[in-house]
Amino acid sequence: MKDLRKQDFSPTLLDFGPVQFYLARHFGFCYGVENAIEISYRALEENPDKRVFLLSQMIHNQEVNNDLQSRGIKFIMDTDGKQFIPWDELKPDDIVIIPAFGTTVEIEHMLLNKGLEVQKYNTTCPFVEKVWNRSEKLGAENHTIIIHGKPNHEETRATFSHSAKSGAAVIVRDMEDAAKLGEYVMGHKSNEEFFEEFAWKHSESFDPTRDLQRVGVVNQTTMLATETQAIADYFKQLMIQQYGAENLKEHFADTRDTLCYATNDNQDSTYQLLETDADLAIVVGGYNSSNTSHIVELCERKFPTYFINSEKEIKSISEIHHFNYHKKEKQVTNNFLPDKRPVRIVLTSGASCPDTLVDRVMLKVMEFYPDAKSVETVLNQVG
Ligand code: SF4
Repeated sequence: MKDLRKQDFSPTLLDFGPVQFYLARHFGFCYGVENAIEISYRALEENPDKRVFLLSQMIHNQEVNNDLQSRGIKFIMDTDGKQFIPWDELKPDDIVIIPAFGTTVEIEHMLLNKGLEVQKYNTTCPFVEKVWNRSEKLGAENHTIIIHGKPNHEETRATFSHSAKSGAAVIVRDMEDAAKLGEYVMGHKSNEEFFEEFAWKHSESFDPTRDLQRVGVVNQTTMLATETQAIADYFKQLMIQQYGAENLKEHFADTRDTLCYATNDNQDSTYQLLETDADLAIVVGGYNSSNTSHIVELCERKFPTYFINSEKEIKSISEIHHFNYHKKEKQVTNNFLPDKRPVRIVLTSGASCPDTLVDRVMLKVMEFYPDAKSVETVLNQVG
């Protein structure tokens, strides 16, 4: 019997005849992104006579950001924290929107000190706030907070700053970084080496000797679930090795990961896509989007994978321009569609990608198959 409590993550097959698409069960806009977009447009509507600023990009989606800019919103920083508009230019009656990733405690205080109202249009996602609450709890229990995240990502910087408020905190980007930190847990390396290796990734007055005896792990909401699990397991084992299984509770907070529901659903759906017999995968999303890059990473395990931010990257039946996120550069691939029938394509997107963009990619590919069935016919078939 089907277990109704279990969600179905199996893909939908859209069979157009010469070309077939395996669509992920979950993809596209998440709650946090929809909410942030709605609030931003509302801020514009409600304040026609005021200057409206966004702390940084609303979400990692160029189309949405361009549209907001064309309506008059100005970005204060880019996603790496590079300042476009000096803080001094902000006046108390300006509107400042906090993006879905949240912001640091320091920036929030600075804005409040300038007399700016920051709560009215604060779009911080509740799932990000949940991570801050978890960090606070860990800090209050005297655990050092190990944040699995990308050190330059807005969300990780915000989480780091909120964590550092309640306890010692340090960021690890991946398993490799975790293993480096492990060397200090085991006392194999000196404090001087720590400050060099983890510069800018630890809270103020961090003392590696004192602060790595009792730890808990939280993560950026969009990391790869399996990697966060591996990192938490690694520190758990280290603490057992150092202090004995009977003392584990004293040294390691065994909590669940802090990934958000959208990341989990999108990643679970991607695992199901890996079960298909597709010839290639197309993943649509912003090139600086963390959650999209992890979907790409998973698809690459099985398929030639093309990470594109719009249908415009598909130049012709034989040429696609796509982003290599390992090298952080665009590349061109020829003959990306195999010369066979049917061609089977996995198609999915990240949490900051509108569904219409995925539709447009599908329609673009279908242009190359004039004998394909119509969209209406196929949609009627899947009901
Ligand atoms: S990806 Fe998750 S945490 Fe980020 S905005 Fe969407 S729902 Fe919120």
